[in-house]
This record gives sequence, structure tokens and C-alpha cells, in this order.
Amino acid sequence: MVLAGGQGSRMGGQDKGLLVFNGRPLIEHLLEALQPQTDALLINANRNHARYQTYGYPVISDAQNTAGNAYLGPLAGIAAALQAATTPYILTVPCDAPHIAPDMAVRLWQALQRDGAELAVAHDGERLQPIHALIPVTLLPSLQAFLAGGDRKTDLWYSQHRVAQADFSDCREMFRNINTPEQQQALAQTLPPLPLRVLGVSAWSGSGKTTLLAALIPHLKQAGLRLTVIKHGHHHIELDTPGKDTYRFREAGADQVLLASRKRMAMMQECKTQREPELADVLRFINPDCADLVLVEGFKHTAIPKIEVHRPSLGKPLLFPDDPTVIALASDDLSLAVPAHIAKFDLNQPQALAAFIVGWLQQKKTPAATHLPKHLSMTEARTRILNRVQPLTAALKLPLRDALGQVLAEAVISPHNVPNYTNSAMDGYALRGVDLPTDTPREYRVIGKAFAGGAFAGECGAGECVRIMTGAAMPAGTDTVVMQEQVTAGADGCVRIATGQQARQNVRLAGEDIAQGSSVLPAGRRITPADLGVLASLGINEVSVTRPLRVAFFSTGNELRSLGETLEAGQVYDSNRYTLYGLLKQLNVDIFDMGVVRDDPATLEATLLQASDIADVVLTSGGVSVGEADHIKGILAKLGQIHFWKIAIKPGRPLAFGTVGKAQFFGLPGNPVAVMVTFLQFVQPALLKMAGATANEPLLLDAVCLSSLKKQPGRTEFQRGFVRQEGGRLVVDKTGYQGSGALSSMSRGNGFIILPEERGNVQPGDVVQVQLFGW
Ligand code: AMP
Ligand code: MG
Repeated sequence: MVLAGGQGSRMGGQDKGLLVFNGRPLIEHLLEALQPQTDALLINANRNHARYQTYGYPVISDAQNTAGNAYLGPLAGIAAALQAATTPYILTVPCDAPHIAPDMAVRLWQALQRDGAELAVAHDGERLQPIHALIPVTLLPSLQAFLAGGDRKTDLWYSQHRVAQADFSDCREMFRNINTPEQQQALAQTLPPLPLRVLGVSAWSGSGKTTLLAALIPHLKQAGLRLTVIKHGHHHIELDTPGKDTYRFREAGADQVLLASRKRMAMMQECKTQREPELADVLRFINPDCADLVLVEGFKHTAIPKIEVHRPSLGKPLLFPDDPTVIALASDDLSLAVPAHIAKFDLNQPQALAAFIVGWLQQKKTPAATHLPKHLSMTEARTRILNRVQPLTAALKLPLRDALGQVLAEAVISPHNVPNYTNSAMDGYALRGVDLPTDTPREYRVIGKAFAGGAFAGECGAGECVRIMTGAAMPAGTDTVVMQEQVTAGADGCVRIATGQQARQNVRLAGEDIAQGSSVLPAGRRITPADLGVLASLGINEVSVTRPLRVAFFSTGNELRSLGETLEAGQVYDSNRYTLYGLLKQLNVDIFDMGVVRDDPATLEATLLQASDIADVVLTSGGVSVGEADHIKGILAKLGQIHFWKIAIKPGRPLAFGTVGKAQFFGLPGNPVAVMVTFLQFVQPALLKMAGATANEPLLLDAVCLSSLKKQPGRTEFQRGFVRQEGGRLVVDKTGYQGSGALSSMSRGNGFIILPEERGNVQPGDVVQVQLFGW
């Protein structure tokens, strides 16, 4: 939001937003700088509305105080913007400071996240700059109350909240504003006419920035560009050599020395301040006739788009993870993984990088340079969700059968040995291992029989054996069983056993499966059919499990009809409640289906409150994007602590996550496939964690893709496929049309084909990762 509502008192009452600066009204400079960083723009103005409206953005007047129309200062404009905002946060800037850092929003956001603060405010190195701020719409009631109390000081209101300071000391030009006609003149003179296209080269020393620049320049010249190169030197300037006339003039006290010849010109200017020059100090010298592109070496911390040079052999960390201004990476190691918004080049192929730069210059905006995490990556979103939900602590005892699919609240310790007694693993003959034949077959007298559940009471001596069945206790004196198939009949009452038998074979020792006192199943285990058997084998008929989660859900949308109703034109049956029911049923949670709710704010709010009252988790589908009937956002900003995320996945980009009352809330998208994808990727892991279950990483398998798949780099895609075995390998076919509403693509498939963010189209024969649904 650009604050242009001031009275311009020191400008003779002029509307500052409309003051012409470098040939254009100030407001245009700001809108241009903010547009790439934001989802929506607002102009706060108290006069000249028609003029401001020509920019095509909403123009809003200050919130008025009850006493009348007295100008309340910027907070009144901020209050109006918080009320009008369609996004969860507003970024505020004054209209009279035309130079906004391209990463202003992202830096404020990072500071806010870093400090876990409510809002973030820019700091210029000396003081807070309160009008350069990032403020959540949830603070509207607080601001309204503050203004109603008659206060108007920004700092005082901020002091009621947790404020993060974002360091902008490296771009102080952002805070140079115009209050008087003299300042207007001064600023216009000191700053270069816009737009200059500036591109930095950034690296640890020794990485070869200069070499790369020198190699790039001929290619860029060949493309017809006029180039300016700025280099940040640390101390003396090479031009400044004792004995030269220029040196003598400078030494004698000239403020500036210019050397001009038929071939070229050079200039030296004394720096009057002791600080290192900022890029803005240098840019003012640039002659636009030589500058289709300004290449900058050094000024690493200035917020300009940059190319990072990286040589892994130097052992230095990559810069781009902490520097959102990096748009390309030039490295001698092409195996480095980079996010989708960063282009990667071979350091030794400058022509490819030069072609990229030429293309970048041709774009109207500098989109990648201002890359704001408008989209969260999938893993980032999952991590944030999992970090915020906590396991339930309440446990209850359930009869064994009912515990299937529930999560053990405590480890099960074995009260017995399993098996409980040493017994035979085979039908055959039990005897003493030391008594087995060594070099020739031998006969043994059969002295009795042992059955499972019918032990042999006597003792077995040398030259004797006992006929034994599987599971029968080993008779006293025996430790070995010879299979009946390996025994032949001998003299009357005897059997004959050949050589080649091993002592102690075919015997199951007491406790060899589970020893008494050992942990059989850990806490956090979701009980499987095998576990039921294991627990039964220990005689355990009741276990302590985490109490089942209570999950409430409803669908939103005026077009939705429930089953049993008749469909009219423009209506659809609600399918999301059925897929959600199925998905939740498999997790053994207690399900509260709250039906379809119309896109009506009052009903939605009431239903949400009711759901959050009865459930641990509330899920909704639909209404979380930015259409006119999408109310969930607004209501939740009021009711709870909510984050609206655009996640870099397809399908399923919008997702709301947070809390309503004491319940966790997930606002899923409306499209049926997107519902299933976001549930499986985000909600299910969170529900399992809340239920106390130990996390299992999703199992991803490699498969050869038989279909060709369309995919644009930038988002993780979950296409649907059918995975099967063919010729000793896994193969996968896509299941037809992949629209985010085409639920048949899910029902025909048995797994997701997961295509990572950076991946492009898939050709038949390419290997892809698949994740089986497992139902
Ligand atoms: P929304 O996110 O509310 O804009 O919905 C996106 C799309 O999903 C629209 O085409 C809706 O009609 C559809 N949709 C939303 N909810 C459901 C539902 N419960 N069942 C089937 N389709 C739905
Ligand atoms: Mg809808």
C-alpha cells in the first residue's frame, strides 16, 4: 500500500504522490517498484481520487476518527488498508520516497519470521523507519481501538506489539524522501534517472568474478549492449599514481579531477564521508548513454539482482540460500542443485550466461530479482505444519481388537518369553545332540511320543529318541530334532538315522522370538494386524492408545448439492466430503461430517466455531482462493491464527493452515484432486503426528514412465499414474486427463507420479518417482 494521503504541508499543500520526479509522478515510481513484490496494490489517498484511479488499483481514503475529519497521520491510512486488504499482510510505503529495494517485502518477511514477531519494520542503521513496514490484517482491531482512543503516533502503536526490525542499512536511499521543493530537486539530481538496469556479480573472493566479467563483456557487446562496469575497490585507485598530473591536482586539494583525451575520459572524486560508498553513491555518475546495462562487481550486500559465482573447490558456502536477489549461478560444478527461480550456468561457458542476461534485460520487469517466497516449497510447507502441531497426550485403554489402527501410547513390554517353552519346529524324532551318528548310520529306540499340548513325561537317554510333533515341548534330556522324512524304519521299536545331522537343529528356544522383559512394540506404533497377533501371543488383551483424534469437516460452495438432492444447472454433487471421509476412515479418527455450507460469511463463521468446539482438527474444502465468494480467509483472519500459503505444488496451490479456537485448521482447496493431494501430503502427516504416531518418511520408488507428461518447471506436480511390474522393473502410465477437478484420474490410479519443482516435460522412458496410495 502506497501512503499518499498526507497533506504535503511543506510542499505548499501539493499532493506529493503526484509530484513529478525524474519525469513521472512519484506514485508511478512506487507502484512500479512494488508491483513485482506483492499480490495486490492499494493506494491510500485523501484527494485526487479520480487521478489515482487511472492506475487501476483500489484507492482508499483514511479511516476517519469519530471526532470528524482531522488528519490522523499515516496510521489512519494503514487502518483503511488493513480493512481493504485482500491479502493476509500489507506492505506499507510512503509515496514520497521513490527508491524501494526490490527485495523490501522479502526482507521484512524474513525478519518477521526470524523473530516470530507480529509485524516487521525497516531500520536504516540509525533509526526505525516506521512507515516502511509489513503488517498483518489481524492487527486491524488493535489499530482501530488505538485510533479510537485518540492516539495517532505510529511508534506508540507498534510498541503494543511484537515488532521485528529488518536491517536496510545497506540501502539507505530507500528512506530519502521529499518533504520540500529543495529535497525534490536534490533527490532528482543525486539519483540516476530510472530505469537503469543493474546486475551484480557476487562471490567469495578468489572465485573468479573479474575473470567471468571480462569473459562476459565481449559477448554482451556482441549483442549490441552499451555496458557500464562498476567495481568496488577497497583502498587506493590505480589512476591515482604519484607523479601524474591528476595526482598532483588531487593532492593540491581539487574536489574532483577529470582527465579527458580523444580516446577516453576518467574522473576522480574525493569521498567526503568516511563510510564505504553505497551503490547509490556511485550510480549517480553513470552516463545513461553508456548504460543499457550496468554490471557491478562488489557491493555484495546491496539489493540488486545478482549472478553468483561459485567454485565448490574453495570450500565456501553458497550465497543464494541467504540472498534472495541471486537470479543465476555460474559454477564449475553443474551437479549443484538450485531452486527453480535460479538459472544455472557453466562458469566456463560465458556465452550461455551472456544469452541469459540479454533475455533477462528484454523482460519488462525483473521478476527473478525480486523473487519473493510467494510460493512455499512443498517440503517447507510440510515442515512448518509439522513443527506447529503437537501430539495429543490423553490415552485410553482399548480391548485388543479395537486397538487396530490406533497408536500405542506406551511401549508394550513382554510379560513372557515367546515361545514360552523350548519346542520342536518339525515333526520328527527328538534326541540328544551329542548322541547323533558321526560316521555311520545308527538306530535309536523310540521310547514315547510328545504332542503339542501333550508333553512326554520321561527322560530321554543315550541311544534313545522320542517321536515328536511340531510345537511339542522338548522332552527332558533332548536338544535336537531329526525330521521324520530323514528317518527310516529300523529294528522293531527303533528308527534309523543317517549321518549329516546337526546338534540343536529344528528346535525353537524359549524366548527366541520375544524375550521376557523386552520391548515388543514401541510407543507411537500404529497397530497392525501382525501386532494384534503379537500382542495376543503375549496374552495381552488390552492396550493403552492415544485417544482417537476428532476431525470435523465441511464443504463450502453455493454450487454444491448433497447426495439425494436433485441437481439443477450450475450445480455439482459434493464429492469432497466423501473422499475426505474415506481418507479419514483409514486413519481411524473420529469423524464429524458437518455437511455443505453456503458461501455466506455468517454461516461459515458459525459453522467454523461449532466445528472447532467439538474437534481437534477442522478441515474445510473450497473458498480459500481469491475469488469473490472465497470468504474463508477473511473469517479466519478474524477468528484465528491463520497462514494463507500459496504452495508450489500442482494441483493444490492455495492452502490455509492455523488454529481456530483450540482446534487446528486446514483450509483445503475446492478442486477434488487438489483436496486429495493436499490431504495426503500435508494433513495426513499432521494428523498422524497429533495422534502420537512415529513418522515414516513417504516411500518413493523409481519407475520408468511410459507416458509423455507435460510439466512446467516451478512447482512440484502430483500427476496420477498406474504403477506395475514389467520385465523386472517398475513402470508407470498416467491415468488420462490430469485436470485438478478430474477425480477419475485418482480413482483409476494407484499412485502419484511426483515431478519435482525444477523438472520439465517427461518423455517416455524417463525415470520418475512414484508414491503408491497404498489403499
Ligand atoms: P473453490 O476453491 O471453492 O473456488 O472451488 C474450486 C472448484 O472445486 C470449483 O469448480 C468447485 O465447484 C469445485 N468444488 C469445490 N468444492 C467441491 C466439493 N465439495 N465437491 C466437488 N467439487 C467441489
Ligand atoms: Mg467455492
